[in-house]
Amino acid sequence: MARKRLTDAAAAGMLADSALIAHGRGEAFDYLLGEATCDAARNAIRETAAILLSAEKCVISVNGNTVALAGTQLIACAAVLNCPIEVNIYYRTPERMEALLSALNNQRLEATELYPELATEIGLVPILGANPDGRIPNLEGPRANCHSDGILSANAILVPLEDGDRCEALIAMGKNVCVIDLNPLSRTARTASVTIVDELTRCVPILLDDLKHDSVSQDVGWDNDLNLQEVISVMLRVLD
Ligand code: ATP
Ligand code: MG
Repeated sequence: MARKRLTDAAAAGMLADSALIAHGRGEAFDYLLGEATCDAARNAIRETAAILLSAEKCVISVNGNTVALAGTQLIACAAVLNCPIEVNIYYRTPERMEALLSALNNQRLEATELYPELATEIGLVPILGANPDGRIPNLEGPRANCHSDGILSANAILVPLEDGDRCEALIAMGKNVCVIDLNPLSRTARTASVTIVDELTRCVPILLDDLKHDSVSQDVGWDNDLNLQEVISVMLRVLD
């Protein structure tokens, strides 16, 4: 189903050429996890929920794969958090931006049907990306473009499937960066404040549940390297 969603999204002009390669990298790591959410990932989801709920200002940054696979559920997360969704893509073209913004607007309607209890908040989620008026410092090219009322001013940011360069630049800005990445060895996974090493469509519903229940509290001593080590141990166990 995920592959079909991605090939449909590619046909609709939502994805960069490299998007399916990135998905394949993710699938390979997911086999090593036994295609299940491990305990370490569960803890990282809880930590992410706590950070997002307690942030003064947060934002959910999405790329093409993210919109194709989990846009609807992430709009529901943004509704609970009362925060914007910002389309921020590595290879920015006007056509791709338009395809993604229009997909998100359809997903907003889908989200209203799926989560009627959040309908009002879902209707209010700002969807940013069309008119960036700021730049992420220390990044070259159009991939640095962002919104001043979105990524630029947020204290905490959830970025599923982020690229290593941009993750480093966001951390250098002093933000709390929570990422979802199946590869525990990627630069993104190693640089982020909190790394959820889990499959996007499997962990976002769990995150939404944590956000709704608002019963999670931030672990001041969160050790992301230790969490990554735990995930790597799970992956190595599969090879025994
Ligand atoms: P980095 O730039 O962080 O060093 P990279 O260049 O290998 O890593 P990117 O293409 O920048 O990777 O980001 C895509 C990441 O998303 C990959 O690490 C891949 O494993 C991961 N990924 C792909 N699909 C999914 C998915 N469905 N769920 C979770 N992670 C995924
Ligand atoms: Mg990269």
